[in-house]
Amino acid sequence: MTEEEIDDVFGCFEGECQGCDCFGRVNDLGLCKDCAGKLERDLIRQRDWDYSATAYGVPSSKREELRNQVVAQYGEKLELLAPENDKKKGKSRKGKKRKRSGKSR
Ligand SMILES: [Zn+2]
Repeated sequence: MTEEEIDDVFGCFEGECQGCDCFGRVNDLGLCKDCAGKLERDLIRQRDWDYSATAYGVPSSKREELRNQVVAQYGEKLELLAPENDKKKGKSRKGKKRKRSGKSR
């Protein structure tokens, strides 16, 4: 996705980001640009190709390459999604972490 395409997607919605609780422009998933990028990379890391807009239309032979690029650039650690083995059993609460904006980016 190019920057222009991203700008195209964003700007239609305003709301609170599901990822970082910032209020501002969010996409149809309720994520700000920052978090949408993180999610995108997490999906690629986990090989959830079907959900990744970046991987869409990329032949499966090229997807590993795409993943390698993401890992090389951003590391292997998930940025937004919780890793599979880190799931807590609490099911009633939807994981909305309270985060005070102590640490600025
Ligand atoms: Zn966010």
